[in-house]
Amino acid sequence: MIRRKKLGEIERISASCQIVFAVQQKIEALVTPGITPLELDRIAEAEIRALGAAPAFKGYHGFPYSICSSVNASIVHGFPDDTPLAVGDIISIDVGAHLDGYYGDGAFTVGVGTIGPEAQRLLDGTLACLELGIAQARPDGRLSDISNAIETHADAQGLAIIREYGGHGIGRKLHESPHINNYGPPGKGPRLKPGHVFCIEPILCLGDPEVEHSDDGWTTVTRDRSLAAHSEHTVAITEDGPQILTLPTAVPA
Ligand code: MG
Repeated sequence: MIRRKKLGEIERISASCQIVFAVQQKIEALVTPGITPLELDRIAEAEIRALGAAPAFKGYHGFPYSICSSVNASIVHGFPDDTPLAVGDIISIDVGAHLDGYYGDGAFTVGVGTIGPEAQRLLDGTLACLELGIAQARPDGRLSDISNAIETHADAQGLAIIREYGGHGIGRKLHESPHINNYGPPGKGPRLKPGHVFCIEPILCLGDPEVEHSDDGWTTVTRDRSLAAHSEHTVAITEDGPQILTLPTAVPA
């Protein structure tokens, strides 16, 4: 059984997610050749705090930064460092905010300047997997429908799924049950209900999906050093289907 959040809780998760979105917008605009991930981290932290929240990742199981920054073959949970970004790099940036007792979490991967066609194919495919996964986050679907939609599209695009990682519930904790695999047959697992709030996050690579863990205990890279990408939204299931909380709230006409 996955706990269903009350409306007031979803509103508070949404408030955190709106901060995540605002910070992502600011950071994405700054991703240009020459800037360092460490500079992006400092700016993100300042912005999260200016918006009244705390950076969700800082101190989480000892993670020392406010954003995760994963460049090229780095997969997830990377440490922002002082290596300037170069034209042709891709960078995944994961942002989390904690406000009023509730978390928001979202990630995007973007190219630095002009990137190669294979890198672009990876970015487009990862984003499409996210969108197709989210489309399955609807009442009376099953949890693995999300997983299967992601896997089916990744397979069709010839992109490999990094199986070590997946999505998760979110709320008062950054990571709540259930874990959401990015692969598997449809029609399995818990039935989805309004009030479920999930982070859906395909993590794909161009080559072999074997993972190597680095000495810092956090950063993971593809063993063959092929490019990896990560896209994530926090999504609430409503009576009408999925509502993406890490995008701007629709303003009623
Ligand atoms: Mg997440």
